[in-house]
Amino acid sequence: MAHVVTCIPGDGIGPEIMAAAKVAVEATGVAIEWRDMEAGTDVVERYGTPLPDAVLASLRETKVGLKGPITTPVGSGFRSVNVALRKALDLYANLRPAVTIPGVRSRYEDIDLVVVRENTEDLYAGIEHMVGKDAAESIKIITRAGSERICRFAFEYARREGRRKVTAVHKANIMKLTDGLFLETARDVAAGYPDIEFEDRIVDNMCMQLVQKPELYDVLVCPNLYGDIVSDLCAGLVGGLGVAPGANIGVEVALFEPVHGSAPKYAGQDKVNPTALILSAVLMLRHLGEREAADRLFQATKDVIGAGKMVTYDLGGSAGTMAMGRAIAARVRELAG
Ligand code: NAD
Repeated sequence: MAHVVTCIPGDGIGPEIMAAAKVAVEATGVAIEWRDMEAGTDVVERYGTPLPDAVLASLRETKVGLKGPITTPVGSGFRSVNVALRKALDLYANLRPAVTIPGVRSRYEDIDLVVVRENTEDLYAGIEHMVGKDAAESIKIITRAGSERICRFAFEYARREGRRKVTAVHKANIMKLTDGLFLETARDVAAGYPDIEFEDRIVDNMCMQLVQKPELYDVLVCPNLYGDIVSDLCAGLVGGLGVAPGANIGVEVALFEPVHGSAPKYAGQDKVNPTALILSAVLMLRHLGEREAADRLFQATKDVIGAGKMVTYDLGGSAGTMAMGRAIAARVRELAG
């Protein structure tokens, strides 16, 4: 039976990288029935909103989505579609792997980190107000329930993916109540996973250690704001946003999407790198239980990048988006023997 997947190409460079990613995914031979859904700035005129109800309905029904980037218009009155999707579907866990890909310029070798970022609480709740006219206050929300589900997610992920260690990232020495609660909850959850090593790091020290000794770390679980910062740091360790995949996962729905945005200045030029979306599709295939296909697609992507010929400008080549997608698809078929 085919897996039914909601496909949201998005806007800007989204449709181009999605077309390339679909060619690469389809080469694995996994049967996928794509439900193509429109969202983003291009559809506002027709639907009156960048996030038509049909998109949410489709995601609720299919439970799995692959998504391209969507532009957040400045000052138009519409909030970010990306944030709206995460809120409407309670996609509480943001998964951001950072893996060395030979051929991608970076300062390190052999990095294999995963950041699990809480997606709904913390200073990101956006509860802010002015105190008089010369001061402003932002409220940091951390709950035991929110901390527990993200820590449990991190440990379950570690166990499922054969990872050895989870590190909780916090600033509990200063924010004794909020980050203290996160750390206390992480310790409680860790006690239920004796097979996985657990440790914690204060966020500033964590950043220094990641730059100096990234090989010591494995899965990092973070409250929202630290996760935002630390996950970009980790993307930087392996060569930047062009190769950084991600997923936003809830109890019901999992939505896989690259970390980068819609890069409007490159839209329609068949120029940008489809790798981050293709690696997001690798995560999606694993989520669907198609592990062999996922491994093959990952290996094919690494092989094409390592060979250095059919790669986009940011990787030092001159291939177009679709040509790189097709090269990865061809390698996927070769690897199947
Ligand atoms: P961006 O990631 O779109 O682009 C920044 C720069 O990164 C680009 O100019 C380009 O040089 C490079 N880049 C990005 N993706 C690339 C790729 N696949 N291949 C090669 N180079 C690539 O960031 P931005 O300019 O800050 O944001 C543009 C829009 O995207 C904004 O409206 C923003 O809100 C939105 N955005 C959406 C998402 C999402 O949909 N999840 C995420 C981030 C930003």
